[in-house]
Amino acid sequence: MGLLYDLETRLEQQIPVQLQQSLQLALDDYQPLCPDCGLAMHRHHRYARTITTRYGAIRLQMPVFRCGQCGRMASGADLLGEAERHQRYSKKPAN
Ligand SMILES: [Zn+2]
Repeated sequence: MGLLYDLETRLEQQIPVQLQQSLQLALDDYQPLCPDCGLAMHRHHRYARTITTRYGAIRLQMPVFRCGQCGRMASGADLLGEAERHQRYSKKPAN
């Protein structure tokens, strides 16, 4: 198939792997501040989450954080900039 095809194929296979590793490292380092108290939130638990990228589906361990002061919850998905609602993490009732 030729060198160009080989290199293109290899890079295509590496991109999602590197994307997954970089995102997971960033999520593991992420420590958000509580939007209400301004205090550092601590990791409450993690859950497996598959996200869709332009290079395909990527599986991540998504952290969920909790404020020790007010109990507010936040998700690592905030870091990724996903257009996702976090109603189930909100303290407020959904009417
Ligand atoms: Zn708080």
